[in-house]
Amino acid sequence: MKRVLLLATTTGYQIRSFGDAAEKLGVRLVFASDRCDQLDDPWWDRAIPVRFHDEARSVDAIERACGDQPPDGIVAVGDRPVVLAAQVARAFGLPGHPPAAAAVSRNKLLTRRALQAAGLPTPWFEPVSFDGDRTEWVRRVPYPAVVKPLALSGSRGVMRVDDEQACIAAVDRLRHLLESPDVRIERDAAHGLALVESFIPGVEYAVEGLLDRGRLRVLTIFDKPDPLDGPYFEETIYLTPSTAPAATQSHITATVDAAARAMGLHHGPIHAECRVNGSQVYVLEIAARPLGGLCSRALRFEKDVSLEELLLRHALGEDVSSYGREAAAAGVMMIPIPKPGIFRRVDGLEAARAVPGVEDVRITTKPDAHVVPLPEARSYLGFIFARGERGTVVEHALRSAHARLQFVIDREVAVVA
Ligand code: ADP
Repeated sequence: MKRVLLLATTTGYQIRSFGDAAEKLGVRLVFASDRCDQLDDPWWDRAIPVRFHDEARSVDAIERACGDQPPDGIVAVGDRPVVLAAQVARAFGLPGHPPAAAAVSRNKLLTRRALQAAGLPTPWFEPVSFDGDRTEWVRRVPYPAVVKPLALSGSRGVMRVDDEQACIAAVDRLRHLLESPDVRIERDAAHGLALVESFIPGVEYAVEGLLDRGRLRVLTIFDKPDPLDGPYFEETIYLTPSTAPAATQSHITATVDAAARAMGLHHGPIHAECRVNGSQVYVLEIAARPLGGLCSRALRFEKDVSLEELLLRHALGEDVSSYGREAAAAGVMMIPIPKPGIFRRVDGLEAARAVPGVEDVRITTKPDAHVVPLPEARSYLGFIFARGERGTVVEHALRSAHARLQFVIDREVAVVA
């Protein structure tokens, strides 16, 4: 039986989907995680405990655990395992991304430098320290600008600022976020700096792709129909297929291809974010991993093949170029957290699920969980999925379903001792 090593932070939904695909294909999944205490699923009872920030020791642990049964393929799920996955691929002689390229993809400053060096459209950018005198650099920034962390994801900590005062406040807010326990536990040196870059106006797209020994195949381009102009950058709707003009789509594909090369990415799934501004395509980032979490359900291939099945097949060396995306239009809405507090429940679920075209509404936040909106948010409240003949119908279904949901979030009451 072929074995695929999955490196992942959590035992989330996407892992289950990989489990289903593995069962269908008769493939054995070997799981390596830094959250082994959370494993409760029999598929992964023999998970290999690793620490994503301690790569050398983690590679050793994986090699030892595999013994004389090396994996036949490797897939990284989520952002944090991508560098370790690249090193493990190298250690086992499997195709993957060079570790240095994976490290560039994990760091927004290194990404900017790589794209700029390759002559690709790049905003003005500068790394700034949280300490020291701000009076000088804050004047150099061409406003409007964006303040962001170097190595978080999901738009966490990303803030638009229109003047010097707002810029300093945003840098302070980001510092506070980076000092929170769940970020500090990552022990990532990149969290010691902020990145300030000029704001690129324009329309945004996400690109899901698969690199095969350096050759890019775009699986789909997602439209993001909601404007992303700040002050925070909530992802909401992803729609596929894109309705952008063919020339724009070709330009996006060519630029993502060039950016992936500039970063040195080589083999495996990629997820890119681009902004199209007039005749320029700016690649904001390329993550060396697939579209995350439940969102991947918006992407389905012919013969009812999931993204996870496609990725397992690819990891095992199969030529997957014949799998086209399904004929239907599809979309997902990542339900934003509307206000901070204690999440109690969502009303209107049945009505939302009854909207024609809606396939599922999944609330992923547990009752009584503390929730915060962006820029501090770590997750979404849940997801809405829809399919239909045309993108406009899918988009309308997603918005109607969302409008039927009422979120009950109680204010947190400060306890005064
Ligand atoms: P993350 O990895 O957390 O998604 P990104 O750097 O991709 O961080 O930024 C998140 C979002 O913020 C982007 O999808 C985009 O909407 C917005 N954004 C980031 N940088 C810029 C920029 N320079 N100009 C305009 N919008 C930006």
